Amino acid sequence: MIDLEIPKRLRPLVDQAHAIATSVFRPISRKYDLAEHSYPKELDLLAAILDGVNDGGAGASASQLKRDTTPEEPGSDGAPKNRNGGNLATVLGMMELCWGDVGLALTIPRQGLGNAALSAVGTDEQKARFGKRWIAMAITEPNAGSDSAAIRTHARLDGDSWVISGEKIFVTAGDRAEAVIVWATLDAALGRAAIKSFFVPKGSPGMKVVRLDHKLGIRASDTATIVFDECRVPKENILGSAEIETDKSFAGAMKTFDNTRPVIAAMACGVARAAIDRTREILKDAQPRDANLRSPWLGSNADAELARLEAELEVARLLTLNAAWMADNRIPNSLQASMAKAKAGRAVTEITLRCVELCGATGYAEADLLEKWARDAKILDIFEGTQQIQMLVVARRVLGKTSAELR
Ligand SMILES: Cc1cc2nc3c(=O)[nH]c(=O)nc-3n(C[C@H](O)[C@H](O)[C@H](O)COP(=O)(O)OP(=O)(O)OC[C@H]3O[C@@H](n4cnc5c(N)ncnc54)[C@H](O)[C@@H]3O)c2cc1C
Repeated sequence: MIDLEIPKRLRPLVDQAHAIATSVFRPISRKYDLAEHSYPKELDLLAAILDGVNDGGAGASASQLKRDTTPEEPGSDGAPKNRNGGNLATVLGMMELCWGDVGLALTIPRQGLGNAALSAVGTDEQKARFGKRWIAMAITEPNAGSDSAAIRTHARLDGDSWVISGEKIFVTAGDRAEAVIVWATLDAALGRAAIKSFFVPKGSPGMKVVRLDHKLGIRASDTATIVFDECRVPKENILGSAEIETDKSFAGAMKTFDNTRPVIAAMACGVARAAIDRTREILKDAQPRDANLRSPWLGSNADAELARLEAELEVARLLTLNAAWMADNRIPNSLQASMAKAKAGRAVTEITLRCVELCGATGYAEADLLEKWARDAKILDIFEGTQQIQMLVVARRVLGKTSAELR
């Protein structure tokens, strides 16, 4: 039976995340959009509250966001014990938080994209050891963006340490996070199979944040360039196996995307929802009195357009929930994760811009948040794989082609 309702168990999490979005994020949203690179200190208190709720074992709570997205072990009948597990909880919570502010959601301490990566590829022991930190994820390099197989950062074993050298750019929370998961090759000649991920704590010898980027949107979130110069980490900090299995390509590290792409799609759904909600409010309130808003769009045309945007958002939302649910149930979801990310990235870009347009000057002005959401939206169609790359992944999966056959 298809049941599209939010599971009862996850309702408190959704409500809590929405309350945080309303009472913590929205009031400081513009402040940190304008004050790029200043740390939103209000989030420390939030993180402490979330940690307290988590330690108190209050069931599914907003503190679980991006923590552990690993499904529980199957029960005696072979079925997973918890079909609505960590991935579904994460995407549902993320939609609500990003309704508040996506840049701030990316800045909540201990909830980095690297935490989802650790869940995807770390061993249970590593998840227990590293999981309580705030972890960023560093894949992109000056000469390796969409083609992550082209990375040149390398790692070699020296006694009991891995020694990592290379440069990583555009690392979200790269300055603020307590650790970074770094993709590096053990042997560039062996191609994708030799790419592994490493847990690198901030302050490791040889690791240095050298630059922070100024950006179009998500300005509350820091984006850093990090140089690794003979950076040493303990031998145990390689995630998963150190063996190079050439027959498996780099499926190991790539599993990261199966967990993180639905999370980004969820962020997109949250921002799009915010834009539609706000547009409805503006048009409803403004019709009788704001001359700026008297345009041919008002009335039934605007209603029809909003209904179309709602439909776009609902498609993205259902694809996102499906991809997360599949991950929870250990069903391979690379195709669905990419479909969700492609659809949601495109939808949020279109929806936020159309909402600005529907609200005219009010939509474009800094007095409201609509223009900010239109700027914040575009990154959701870029990072964790661009729109074009998601479509490429979808095409490969649907047509049964390898990455060498369809590039
Ligand atoms: C604010 C921000 C935060 C980020 N955070 C992180 C992070 O935390 N960690 C991290 O590792 N990276 C991060 N990134 C990097 C991001 O993932 C990359 O920017 C993205 O993967 C695209 O890579 P690129 O910028 O090198 O573009 P390119 O790969 O050079 O692509 C340029 C254009 O060409 C298109 N293109 C490329 N290849 C193909 C193809 N085969 N077919 C069709 N079109 C193609 C792309 O879609 C794009 O439109 C972040 C980037 C930004 C801007």
